[in-house]
Amino acid sequence: MNIVVQKFGGTSVASRDKRKQVAKKVALAIKEGYRVVVVVSAMGRLGEAYATDTLLGLVGQQSSRHISNKDLDLLMACGEIISGVVMVSELKAEGYEATCLTGGQAGIVTDESFSDARIIMVKPGEVLKELEKVPIVIVAGFQGVTQGGRVTTLGRGGSDTTAAALGVALKAERIDIYTDVDGVKTADPRVVEEAKTLRNITYNEVCQLAHEGAKVIHPRAVEIAMQGNVPLRILNTFTDGDGTLVTNCAGQGESITDIKNDRLITGITHKPHVTQLTVHNDQKSDAVPVKIFQSLAAAKISVDFITITDEKIIFTVKDIDKDNAVSIIKNLDLELDIKPDCAKVAAVGAGMTGVPGVMAKIVEALTEAGIKILQSADSYTSIWCLVTQKDMEKAVRALHRKFQLG
Ligand code: ADP
Ligand code: MG
Repeated sequence: MNIVVQKFGGTSVASRDKRKQVAKKVALAIKEGYRVVVVVSAMGRLGEAYATDTLLGLVGQQSSRHISNKDLDLLMACGEIISGVVMVSELKAEGYEATCLTGGQAGIVTDESFSDARIIMVKPGEVLKELEKVPIVIVAGFQGVTQGGRVTTLGRGGSDTTAAALGVALKAERIDIYTDVDGVKTADPRVVEEAKTLRNITYNEVCQLAHEGAKVIHPRAVEIAMQGNVPLRILNTFTDGDGTLVTNCAGQGESITDIKNDRLITGITHKPHVTQLTVHNDQKSDAVPVKIFQSLAAAKISVDFITITDEKIIFTVKDIDKDNAVSIIKNLDLELDIKPDCAKVAAVGAGMTGVPGVMAKIVEALTEAGIKILQSADSYTSIWCLVTQKDMEKAVRALHRKFQLG
């Protein structure tokens, strides 16, 4: 049985007209001789009746919510189930036999981290059984069940992960992620109009972009597809382009330096909503940084952009973790400065390893644009700069232009 997995995001299934476009993409795969597993997200965005954020709104804002994450997951999981059943109806109206399964019924087993669960196993039996009977099985994305049978959700971008996990478990020929843009681009097209669609990209490159904020695909989904060595495509539901093909050009198991088409810079990414914290260590005590990072880790607060000098410990946290982090540090009897509303912009590229002058270009681009770099850091595939949130989009455009990615 030749299987492809297709995933359609919220905007792709938002209206009747759009769902007809989805049906066309499914029909195309059927005509090519495939059995199709279709993973769907909830319909539309906040304001639309069954969108995830609308469902969340039924039980109030995050700060004033009285229900547990366990109950919340039960509520949120409804969005994808509704979407899946509506899609079955749409396909049947077009003359295609199809059926819908919840994530749990499709064998997606997760850990017990409600609202941000991790897939630990996929039991593909039920999907395969259904595929013997009908050519199209629709699976509600973004959800699974614990081994004890409780419904969980996978966090933002979770439907991508559902699709990747099913693709690997079903030994699919391909995983196609359909969305509202033509593929993976050199920057978010909402920020950089002239961003270019990348035709071919390696798992490593797209994984880096996704980790640094390119929300076109969830990084975990890329990791799963890479581990299973299943080719991944990212395409537009509403056009006929070839999209972006993600494969491991260098072959399985080889290191990142073996990638053949390693561009100097793959793309520019941005991540808003971070806060910079500067903790004073006037006594120059070695114990202070240890205490800070241990306490933050115990509170499950992740930190970034870490700079430790004799007298200062500087790092960033997500804005949502700010209040918690500040009170933890104050409880350690330490003084600190707080700079909220910052953003992380990054130049990402597997080919920058050992190439001199990349940082010089970044500093040049941002300085020419009148943007202050608050902090910077690098790895062998990325260089990050911390800027204020109001400078974020300008910084992305300046870097995109400097590296001539358009
Ligand atoms: P879906 O609902 O289909 O999952 P998302 O909104 O999660 O769609 O992801 C698609 C969006 O990702 C695009 O509309 C685009 O604005 C954004 N995006 C951010 N960075 C990139 C990038 N480098 N390439 C393409 N799209 C990007
Ligand atoms: Mg998405």
